[in-house]
Amino acid sequence: MPNRRQPLLSAIVQWFDADYAPAGAEAARNEPDRVDWVRCIPFIILHLGCLGVIWTGASAFAVCAAAVLYFSRMAAVTGVYHRYFSHKTYSTSRPMQFILALWGGTAVQRGPLWWAYHHRHHHQHSDEPEDAHSPHVHGFWWSHIGWITSRRNFPTDYSKVRDLDRYPELVFLNRFDAIVPVAFALAIFGLGSALHVLAPGLHTSGGQMLVWGFFISTTALFHGTSCINSMAHLMGRRRYATGDDSRNSFILAVITLGEGWHNNHHRYQSSTRNGFFWWEIDPTYYLLKVLSRTGLVWGLKTVPASVLEEGEQSDHRGSVAAALAHRPLAEHSSLKRIVPAAAAIAVATVNAANPVLPRRADGHGIHRDAASMAQGGRPDPGP
Ligand SMILES: [Zn+2]
Ligand SMILES: [Zn+2]
Repeated sequence: MPNRRQPLLSAIVQWFDADYAPAGAEAARNEPDRVDWVRCIPFIILHLGCLGVIWTGASAFAVCAAAVLYFSRMAAVTGVYHRYFSHKTYSTSRPMQFILALWGGTAVQRGPLWWAYHHRHHHQHSDEPEDAHSPHVHGFWWSHIGWITSRRNFPTDYSKVRDLDRYPELVFLNRFDAIVPVAFALAIFGLGSALHVLAPGLHTSGGQMLVWGFFISTTALFHGTSCINSMAHLMGRRRYATGDDSRNSFILAVITLGEGWHNNHHRYQSSTRNGFFWWEIDPTYYLLKVLSRTGLVWGLKTVPASVLEEGEQSDHRGSVAAALAHRPLAEHSSLKRIVPAAAAIAVATVNAANPVLPRRADGHGIHRDAASMAQGGRPDPGP
C-alpha cells in the first residue's frame, strides 16, 4: 500500500532541496498536470506578503525601491536567465557566470538550470501539446501561472542542460534555490531597519521595505515575466512566420525590458538582442552592450543579415497590404471626386473641338458660316 504521506513530505523537503525526488525526477515529469499545493506554499506566501502593506503603509523611498528592484531584477531574468543560461547569446568568465547566477537568483524564479531547461523545452515544442505553458494548448491562466505550480514541472532535466551542469557551483544554486531569495529578503529587511534608525526622514522601516522591496516587487516581477509565456503568444504582431504563435509587442517590451519582441526571438534565438531594428526598444541589450565594453562579458551575437532582410520584406508586405485594405476609403475621399471631374472636362473639350475640326480641314466651313451670319441667315448646319 503506497504511503500517502510521502508526497506531502517530499513537497516540504523540496522547499529546501529542489532536486529531492524519492520516486525519481523522470517519474515526476511523466505525471499528469496537477497543482502541488504544499510545494507551492512559499509561492502563495510571496503573493499574500503583498497584503502586508496594510500594516506597514507606504513611503516614497519604499515605492521607488520596489520599482528599482523590479527593473534591476527583470534585467537579471532577461539578460542572465534567458539570454545567457538559456540561449548562450554571449560569453563570460566562470566567476562572472556565478555572479550573474546570484543576480538571477534574486528574481525568485527558481534556479538557473531549471529556468534554462524549461525555456529550451518551450522553444522545442512552442504551442504544441508538449509545451508546458502554451496559452493555445492549456489556456491563458495555466500558461501564465498554473504550469509553475504543477508537480511534473518542478524537477530539472539535467540531461537538457549539459553545458551548464558541469559547473558544480551552478548545480548547487539550482538545487538549493531558496538560499539566494531568502538572503535577498533578509538584506532588504536589514536595509529598511538600518534606514529606520540612520535616516528617519525617509519614513521607512524593515517591515515596509520587506513588503515593497521584496513581496510586491517580486510578485510584480513574476507576473511581468509570465506575460511573455502567456501574452506574448496572444497579443501583438507577427513579423516572422514561425511555426508557433509568438508575437511582437511594444507594451510587453517595456514591461520586460525588451522581451516583448518575442516573435523576433522565436525566429532567431541565438541573437543577444531581441529588438532587431533600432525602433524596437531593448534595454536588456543596451545594458549587455555596456557590460561588454567593460570586458566582463563578450562575444555578443548579432542577427544575421538574411534574417533582418526577411523581416524588412515582411514589414513591406504588411505595409502594402494595409494600404490596399484602406484603398476604398481613399477612392471615396479623393479619387472618386477628382477622376469623374477630370473625365468630364476631357469629354467636354473633345466635344467642343470635334464639330470645328472637319470644317477647318476643308477650308470652307468657317467662311461660309460667317458670310451666312452677316446676311442675317442661319448658320449652315453643314453636311
Ligand atoms: Zn515563446
Ligand atoms: Zn528564448
